[in-house]
Amino acid sequence: MKEIKCCICGKRIPVVEGNNPYPVKKGSAFGSDKNRCCHSCNSKFVIPYRLMLNGRTEKEVDWIHKTLKSYTYKKLVEVTEQVFGKGFAC
Ligand SMILES: [Zn+2]
Repeated sequence: MKEIKCCICGKRIPVVEGNNPYPVKKGSAFGSDKNRCCHSCNSKFVIPYRLMLNGRTEKEVDWIHKTLKSYTYKKLVEVTEQVFGKGFAC
C-alpha cells in the first residue's frame, strides 16, 4: 500500500488515510499524496481550527491559514495548547 508522510507531524500513513489538512497546512483533495495529514492531527489540530474559521471574514481566514502554515510542529502544539487549553494536544 502506498504510504505518505503526514504533513503536520511527519508520521507515515497509508495514502487512503490522509485527511485534508486545511487550514493548518495547504489544502488537498482526497487521494492526493501531497499535503495530507493523519487522523490524529486531523482531530487534534485541523478540526478545531476549521471550526474557528466559522463566521470569520475572508481576510481573517487568510491570516489564520498563513499563520498556521508558518508554524513548526512544536510551535503548533504550543499554540494549540494556549488557544484550546492544556492537555488538548498531547
Ligand atoms: Zn500527523
